[in-house]
Amino acid sequence: MAQEDVFKKIVSHCKEYGFVFPSSDIYDGLGAVYDYGQNGVELKNNIKQYWWKSMVLLHDNIVGIDAAVFMHPTVWKASGHVDAFNDPLIDNRDSKKRYRADVLIEDQIGKYEEKIDKEVVKGRKRFKEAFDEAQFLATNGRVLELKEKRDALHARYAKAMKAMDLNELRQIILDEEIVCPISGTRNWTEVRQFNLMFKTEVGSTADGASTIYLRPETAQGIFVNYLNVQKTGRMKLPFGIAQIGKAFRNEIVARQFIFRMREFEQMEMQFFVKPGTEMEWFRQWKQTRMAWHLALGFGAENYRFHDHEKLAHYANAATDIEFHMPFGFKEVEGIHSRTDFDLKQHAKYSGKKIEYFDPENNQSYTPYVIETSIGVDRMFLSIMCHSYEEEQLEGGDVRTVLHLPAALAPVKLAVLPLVKKDGLPEKAQEIMQDLKFHFNCKYEEKDTIGKRYRRQDAIGTPYCITVDHDTLQDNTVTLRDRDTMEQHRVNISDLRSIIEDKVSLTSLLKKI
Ligand code: ATP
Repeated sequence: MAQEDVFKKIVSHCKEYGFVFPSSDIYDGLGAVYDYGQNGVELKNNIKQYWWKSMVLLHDNIVGIDAAVFMHPTVWKASGHVDAFNDPLIDNRDSKKRYRADVLIEDQIGKYEEKIDKEVVKGRKRFKEAFDEAQFLATNGRVLELKEKRDALHARYAKAMKAMDLNELRQIILDEEIVCPISGTRNWTEVRQFNLMFKTEVGSTADGASTIYLRPETAQGIFVNYLNVQKTGRMKLPFGIAQIGKAFRNEIVARQFIFRMREFEQMEMQFFVKPGTEMEWFRQWKQTRMAWHLALGFGAENYRFHDHEKLAHYANAATDIEFHMPFGFKEVEGIHSRTDFDLKQHAKYSGKKIEYFDPENNQSYTPYVIETSIGVDRMFLSIMCHSYEEEQLEGGDVRTVLHLPAALAPVKLAVLPLVKKDGLPEKAQEIMQDLKFHFNCKYEEKDTIGKRYRRQDAIGTPYCITVDHDTLQDNTVTLRDRDTMEQHRVNISDLRSIIEDKVSLTSLLKKI
């Protein structure tokens, strides 16, 4: 199946099984805004718990906060967002569709890469066992030509972005003969800058109302609380402040479901360090964050680091952790060395002294900051994409199953009486009433047992137990594993420990 079709299936699966709905669905939705349903909210909460605990529980020098979405408008002047939080946009005059100029060019670079991959596939077919991929990539004429074009485009694009040369970005689009995917034409407007922050007003709408912004990142809530937390928590460098919360960006192009939303959630941690030690911490946090991803067991081949060519105005090093989505390797998390830019700017704009007194050498200085910033929704999407499978069964049947990491699954255990009579529902309810205090359980008695198993597979429930007539005699039940579909009989009294061991967040955290 083409990757595009797989992605479409995942999107409709998310809706059909109560994970993600379009916002205001009965009014036909709102662009790039989504609601999480009954299963989605559980998965999302589990992702947030996994992140939060990995930060705040596993590091005794990281504490959490929860800052407001609304902030003093000067915060965004100081942070540079009012002047520089822009994307370069371009319109196609025929389709009237708007695009990000940088995304159009990056997609073009991706096309060269796809072409190279296709040449490799052709080469493999032709040379069979004798095929040596490294040699082929280094010597094949067509591949070399494509590589040269890709690298030249990449270099030209990086230079234009660094200088934010809007004319040059447009010229690249023309020279590469990039067409609008809707109209198929090259009738492009000029490239313009577009600020991504949403504005609203506080106070009465008459005199005295003032314009404020919906925060485009949660990080500034941490920076403006640096002094509060450092003083009240008597924190010593290095230390971190973690936060999970909503962020808002008026994205020009809403694409790829919950990958790019206008209202989304971030999990950010700012780690304050002594100046001069930031590169060491940057390396360390790259490793720590990658280990967090890898503990989910999706395979190292599905992740890669992508170092930034164009650094944001505040950064002296930056990398993305990219995940292999059905539409290519895409950013899920950013790790940035933000220098002392933000704290210094807030000191300047607020007139307050924002420093750290280092008792070891009796000096005051502005700490440097390493930031790890991950989108909850993108993480959710990557988990969904990796977990979704249409499994071909013996006998020609297909089952749709979500191989979610057990600790993140919305429901951990389904309790199913084999039939709706003979005291089986009562026995099943008794088990349910005991286990529901330990993990999320779901009771289901409608439809055949086979259909009920399939429904649980489709929402990723790691275990089902079936209560049958033998249960009434010997207090054992059938325990079914989602991934292997194997079943074995276990004592009711052993259920809790068997399941808890597999589904607890603690077991997952220990793998980091
Ligand atoms: P992109 O280049 O994709 O626009 P970004 O580099 O602007 O992303 P950051 O500002 O580094 O993103 O934000 C940190 C994280 O927040 C991203 O890695 C991503 O997971 C998430 N994120 C950013 N923008 C969005 C969005 N519009 N929708 C969903 N998640 C987002």
